[in-house]
Amino acid sequence: MARRFIVAGNWKMNTNIEEGILLAEQIQHGQRNPETEVILAVPYTHLFPIKKKIKASSGIRLAAQNCHDRNAGAFTGEISPTVLNTMKIPYVIIGHSERRMYNNESNELLASKIQAALNNGLKVIFCCGESLDIRRSNEHVNFVKQQLEESLFTVDSTTMKHIVIAYEPVWAIGTGETASPQQAQEMHAAIRKMIHNKYGKRIADNISILYGGSVKGSNAKDIFCQEDVDGGLVGGASLDSSDFLKIINSL
Ligand code: PEP
Repeated sequence: MARRFIVAGNWKMNTNIEEGILLAEQIQHGQRNPETEVILAVPYTHLFPIKKKIKASSGIRLAAQNCHDRNAGAFTGEISPTVLNTMKIPYVIIGHSERRMYNNESNELLASKIQAALNNGLKVIFCCGESLDIRRSNEHVNFVKQQLEESLFTVDSTTMKHIVIAYEPVWAIGTGETASPQQAQEMHAAIRKMIHNKYGKRIADNISILYGGSVKGSNAKDIFCQEDVDGGLVGGASLDSSDFLKIINSL
């Protein structure tokens, strides 16, 4: 996977199926920059009905918001990476801060989920990012390094092409407070350097690193034009088709 500009919408647990189909169709039919890959991370219940409405030629791809680290078994309420693959869902988000927080997902578990997703042919959007306390204590780069080392860096170099990283400072998610373009660039450059040190220059140059945290149509351009920012993972603003299209077109 070469370094691409990606805008991914994370709908979280929002929209009913009719609303979701309408939103996906508005994005599909909207004026979009063809250079930007668009990914919609919709609720599990919406994956199949929305997939039926999205044309392969539209360039819009779907993602699940999570998956289990086993392929099948007695795990009530969980979602199988094997089933996502058989549904031809190309992407899965792993390690979103809301799952780390509300479902106690550890770096070790996330390593196992990443492996399960890759073994099932899924591409992974891996989320990392620090809390406000950690940012204030100026430990944010070390904290993210540990998140990567304990989960993502268990992946071997041949499968790194199936990974997209999303840096999402927890203090900026859903809060309306965005990292400044300089803060985003500093962390993205640090992450790219960590990838370089672990996997070498070619993989570091090619991996897409997205920024997430209160991205809107009004601030996307300033963040996305930073050298090491390759697009965004967008929560709230992805539920509004015109704002989301503006973000897609802010390359
Ligand atoms: C997210 O949930 O990944 C996110 C970045 O949310 P928001 O854009 O609403 O801050």
